[in-house]
Amino acid sequence: MTNVTDDVFRFTAGNYHALVVNTDDGIVLVDPLNNDAANWLKATVKERFSKPVTHLIYSHSHPDHAYGGDVFDDGNTVLISHKDARANLKRVRADTALPSLVFNDTLTLYAGDKELTLTYYGPTNGYGNVAVHVMPDDVMFVVDWVVLGRLPYKDLMGYDLEGTLSATERLLKQPFTRFVGGHADMGDKADVSAYYEYIKTLHDSVLDGILAGKSLEQIQQSKPMAAYSSLKMYEEWVNLNIQGAYEQLVSRSYLKLRNPALSR
Ligand SMILES: [Zn+2]
Repeated sequence: MTNVTDDVFRFTAGNYHALVVNTDDGIVLVDPLNNDAANWLKATVKERFSKPVTHLIYSHSHPDHAYGGDVFDDGNTVLISHKDARANLKRVRADTALPSLVFNDTLTLYAGDKELTLTYYGPTNGYGNVAVHVMPDDVMFVVDWVVLGRLPYKDLMGYDLEGTLSATERLLKQPFTRFVGGHADMGDKADVSAYYEYIKTLHDSVLDGILAGKSLEQIQQSKPMAAYSSLKMYEEWVNLNIQGAYEQLVSRSYLKLRNPALSR
């Protein structure tokens, strides 16, 4: 566990991060991650803070962040998610506890001396993926659809690229000082802006390439993301990022019907 502020901690298990908020009344967690991580977290929180876990929030529906909820489903903790996250967990018979409290657009949770605002900005990655803002610490926590210091994952599996663009635009209009992601680095608002520039450049350059009649390989060879080569996993994933953007744009906007020369 790493301090973000005096009362907000980032909990790390492998390549994953969760959020721990220490309030006057107890502990609020965002994401149990998995059974091992959740068991470790439950024991550590008990030993370190001697307070109950009052709330567990699922950031979204994906099993690699939402599993382990059973560990906290002991009758003392309120489980919360966006309605779409709960619906997906239920639909796919996820092996984790279902939330008892859901919301549509935004939920404000007053927990002890903290105020947490959960906001849904539309489809981004997974189902019902929400941003969590903690006051007065002024920490924003987002999982998967904002990634600092590293490229988005491989071929953008699970991403809605256009949704992620508009959600990140809206997120940047909100005030926040510190940013914690479910993967990769912590940062501030300027770092989130830099991430936005990355996905905007990815989207725009791939779309321009498709509309100019270029193949995926030609777009990759033109190295449209070269300005971002200092990001972690650039060499490994940049062509996969371009491929993911290409496949989404061609399929969702039916660009093949506009341009029969496209191979897919
Ligand atoms: Zn993830």
